[in-house]
Amino acid sequence: MIEISQPLAELDWIPRPRLLALRRLGLETAEDLLTHYPRRYEDRHEFPAFPHEESDVPVCLCGEVMKTSLRRFGGWKKIFEATLQESNANALSEPLVCRWFNLHYLQKMIATGQRLVVFGKPRLRGKRICMDHPEFEVIENDPAEAGIHFRRITPIYPATEGLSQRVLRSIIYRLLNELSDTPLETSLPGELGRGDRRSAIRAIHFPEDWESLNAAREHLVLSEFFAMQMLIASRRAESQVRVGAAHCGRGELLERFLSSLLFELTDAQRRVIAEIRRDLGTNVPMNRLLQGDVGSGKTVVAIAAILLAIEAGCQAAFMAPTQILAEQHYAVLRRWLEPLGVRLSIRTGSRQEDNGPLPLFGSDSRRQDACATQTRDDAPDVIIGTHALLYETVSFSDLGLVVIDEQHKFGVAQRARLTAREPAPDVLVMTATPIPRTLTMTVYGDLDVSVIDEMPRNRGKIITAVRDESKLGEVLGFLRTQVEGGRQIYVIYPLIDESEKLDVKAAVTEYNLWRERLHPFRCELLHGRVPSPEKQEIMERFRSGETQVLISTTVIEVGVDVANATVMLVENAERFGLAQLHQLRGRIGRGEHKSFCILLSSDQSKETATKLAVLEKTIDGFKVAEADWDLRGPGDLLGTAQSGLPVLKIGNLKSDAQLMRRARNAAMSILAADPRLESLENQRFRRLVVEQEGRTFSNVS
Ligand code: ADP
Ligand code: MG
Repeated sequence: MIEISQPLAELDWIPRPRLLALRRLGLETAEDLLTHYPRRYEDRHEFPAFPHEESDVPVCLCGEVMKTSLRRFGGWKKIFEATLQESNANALSEPLVCRWFNLHYLQKMIATGQRLVVFGKPRLRGKRICMDHPEFEVIENDPAEAGIHFRRITPIYPATEGLSQRVLRSIIYRLLNELSDTPLETSLPGELGRGDRRSAIRAIHFPEDWESLNAAREHLVLSEFFAMQMLIASRRAESQVRVGAAHCGRGELLERFLSSLLFELTDAQRRVIAEIRRDLGTNVPMNRLLQGDVGSGKTVVAIAAILLAIEAGCQAAFMAPTQILAEQHYAVLRRWLEPLGVRLSIRTGSRQEDNGPLPLFGSDSRRQDACATQTRDDAPDVIIGTHALLYETVSFSDLGLVVIDEQHKFGVAQRARLTAREPAPDVLVMTATPIPRTLTMTVYGDLDVSVIDEMPRNRGKIITAVRDESKLGEVLGFLRTQVEGGRQIYVIYPLIDESEKLDVKAAVTEYNLWRERLHPFRCELLHGRVPSPEKQEIMERFRSGETQVLISTTVIEVGVDVANATVMLVENAERFGLAQLHQLRGRIGRGEHKSFCILLSSDQSKETATKLAVLEKTIDGFKVAEADWDLRGPGDLLGTAQSGLPVLKIGNLKSDAQLMRRARNAAMSILAADPRLESLENQRFRRLVVEQEGRTFSNVS
């Protein structure tokens, strides 16, 4: 009898090389292997007749190998072909030619007379129906094993080197048969179904029929989702039982700030500020996500929150993902808040500065040393910074509010690092990466969500156009009219790895080209390897209009705000993801002028065309996010690792969204009734949460 937790290494019937191959898949225990779920299934009860036409849908066929051949083409390349005949062939039957390129070892695996099951897309090549690189399995005439691999719904697993489907399937089959009868703890609450885990696991590997497969899958997906949602809900409950404090002033400072603005807040901004204000006013710690498309005006909302907090007498921290952004926030906040008498300070990897002179300390270094002993009286009200804030030796003397900009650039663990203190500060995280609702409830499931769903009215229109690289000449003409009209331009390059010298060199070459192209206008080059102070000066010259053209990498992707810049030209646009392009486009259309986003690409593939066309069609970030998700398929958008959640083994965040909703409701109601899972009947859920916590990543050092 095998116990579920038993290491595979203890099973003497698994030969060592196979154990090693399993280990490479991360499979160490019986449970690991039993939860190594099939990636798809083949119905090997009956096979369809061989096709006469091609199709885009892959099909599963079975036939006998009539002949094989190895041919050369194009000099050194080889092609191996196996011609299959279907079992009940008649005069009208077409043979099927399976082809593999440059895989001559197949020659040793496939021989005339064998029966093969193949899976792939049939294609018409000349007069022949071919399948290129089909997945295949040789059917062996071993009666003892026939029932495992054939005449059934057969599982196909994620593959690995050194383990054939057949071997993996046999091992799992035996494991299931020898598994001890000790019931597997079911951690699903009754309302999510009564199925039992043991039979679900059996059926997910070797289902009797499609219905039982579906039922088993639903059970396992629900278990997985429920475990995840319990983790999320308990984190949420945990933060709500933490000791916090109210951090909300009377609002006079906020009023003064708002009346100093040259624009009216949008209704959405007002609504969101009211939501935040309510949170700040209670002593339950705030954990709020502010979602708003690029340019929707999140910074003003953040400032409102900050002002309410400092008016209540505490400090606020404002963390941004890049130096440029931190500097920009610092500049904006100085402009707006200095007149109100607010003390500001910036802390980045390379810079520490306070706006007001601190009489006690002369030099910067001494000031840094002295920070730890600063008293509340001379401490800044707001500290703006990058990741450096996480490692800040300044003990914030009385941190009441933490604002995290562009949250998707940080991980949950980093957020926790800044906010895990007693009493708990209020936390506002902001993101301009709109994500589909179904993802929000997972990735940001432990947060309350506010959405700014309205753009300021004074915005010029943005027109997006995809152009072939060969049209650069015309595009240049257009760019000239824009700079001559007093506008400014971003030109973006896709540097894959900013640390690579080669890329930097390419950018420098391109920069020189652009200087010639747009002579006599001033261009400057900005990328991640430019030293920080200089980066700042370059940004400043662009902001002030001294420079007309900024040739840059995606270091300006998030947040940068220069209203006079009206053109965003992206080179090799196909190399960027949709979300990233949308972010880049968010750099323009910030003033009243009409703006233009030009996506240059020489890639004429259908995928690229479809992808880039999305941006031509819409400027709505949510629509872009949905389309992105559709195009990228089931893989999850942000990566659950980033969100500090365990990786999903079976559930699909997109197609199983309905199940996620059910799991979430169940988890939320359990924790609402018993936030610490103290009752006797909730003990199993408590164990579940602890176990889940052990499976999460932590992406902070
Ligand atoms: P994001 O949400 O992308 O961070 P920002 O906060 O940087 O956007 O705001 C973009 C620009 O819009 C800034 O220059 C800001 O001053 C301005 N802005 C914010 N709110 C409004 C408003 N209600 N009306 C007009 N302009 C606004
Ligand atoms: Mg912003």
